Amino acid sequence: MIKYMNGHEETPEQAALNSVPTGWYNLVVKMLNDLLAAGWDGETAQIKEKFGVLRLYTNGNWSEEMDAIYDKAEADSFKTCAVCGEPGEMFYKGWISPYCKEHTPKDRT
Ligand SMILES: [Zn+2]
Repeated sequence: MIKYMNGHEETPEQAALNSVPTGWYNLVVKMLNDLLAAGWDGETAQIKEKFGVLRLYTNGNWSEEMDAIYDKAEADSFKTCAVCGEPGEMFYKGWISPYCKEHTPKDRT
């Protein structure tokens, strides 16, 4: 369970669904489950996409192992299409998000 500051709780699946672009769903669910498996207590302030990169703000216990899990997910998010989850590239134009070729907004290029 992910435990938010405001007291509500979510499964990693719900947290991913509610917080990040659809294409990152699997990546975020895996990260949260890996963190919990590594002994994380799930205390978190926020999970979100910021400037095209996955961000986790946590108040919980933290270890080097969790750092490594988070670093990996963060690095993966940077090159994962925010729409479909396929490999993508950072797209800067008005906003910043990674997209695959198919989902790069064409009207903005
Ligand atoms: Zn895509």
